[in-house]
Amino acid sequence: MSAFQVETVQSVHHWNDTLFSFKTSRSDSLRFKSGQFVMIGLEIEGKPLMRAYSVVSANYEDHLEFYSIKVPDGPLTSHLQHLKIGDQLLVSKKPTGSLILDHLKPGKNLYLLSTGTGLAPFMSVIRDPEFYDHFEKIILTHGVRWVSELGYKDYIDQGLPSHEYLGEMVQNQLIYYPTVTREEFHQMGRLTDLIRSKKMFRDIDLKELNPETDRVMICGSPSMLKDLVEILKEKGFVEGTSHAPGDYVIERAFVEK
Ligand SMILES: Cc1cc2nc3c(=O)[nH]c(=O)nc-3n(C[C@H](O)[C@H](O)[C@H](O)COP(=O)(O)OP(=O)(O)OC[C@H]3O[C@@H](n4cnc5c(N)ncnc54)[C@H](O)[C@@H]3O)c2cc1C
Repeated sequence: MSAFQVETVQSVHHWNDTLFSFKTSRSDSLRFKSGQFVMIGLEIEGKPLMRAYSVVSANYEDHLEFYSIKVPDGPLTSHLQHLKIGDQLLVSKKPTGSLILDHLKPGKNLYLLSTGTGLAPFMSVIRDPEFYDHFEKIILTHGVRWVSELGYKDYIDQGLPSHEYLGEMVQNQLIYYPTVTREEFHQMGRLTDLIRSKKMFRDIDLKELNPETDRVMICGSPSMLKDLVEILKEKGFVEGTSHAPGDYVIERAFVEK
């Protein structure tokens, strides 16, 4: 039996020259937890070429959605960026990943710290009512270089607060904190600097990170991960695993080759 399901592309959206997202059909048998990733890919020269991708869509939706970089000459994304409606996509049958609720101890505030395509798993998380039941506030940060890289910004700012079922929870509990490094924007700077200088906490009117009250999920570039984990460890945060829930969990948004 094949390890992959074949799904059909239903829509494609290009955010800019470097980022796009797409929706596919979803097999009834695919179950995943918000924050998990699957392997997706295409058959290239007769063989499956697969890469890890976080699921953007909510776990109760009848389609799958993914948010993707276009790596120049990237083995998979140089093909994937040309996906069209009706094309076939291979999707692994076993979702996995560390960015799940079960790996965190109960807490008051949940920080979702992302850069670049690291936003992807958190798009699923911020649409899961279970997370709003577990935390008083959910703070979603998204650090990018250019404003055009703030994928899903309008949806998070406007679409989600007026969502039929999630709207009220989102309005009362979700704080969205996008930040840009290379051009003028109302919030500027690297996430790590904004956390170290405490500016982020002043901006969102919350106390600085504290393992007594706060839980953290991180998904971003390997260097961002390293810096943020250093900050968390200095403050006494302990990593959560499948064996023992903790104060924070991490996932790389990609692997540096
Ligand atoms: C757990 C996990 C989850 C992932 N989820 C996603 C996702 O949701 N969306 C997504 O676009 N990618 C994601 N990736 C990265 C993805 O698996 C591929 O690396 C990416 O699609 C590029 O594939 P490629 O074959 O074209 O190039 P690759 O040979 O895989 O990558 C070439 C180089 O491109 C750079 N690169 C790769 N991916 C990214 C990225 N996302 N952002 C910035 N630089 C990158 C790196 O320097 C890498 O060495 C994830 C990776 C991991 C480990």
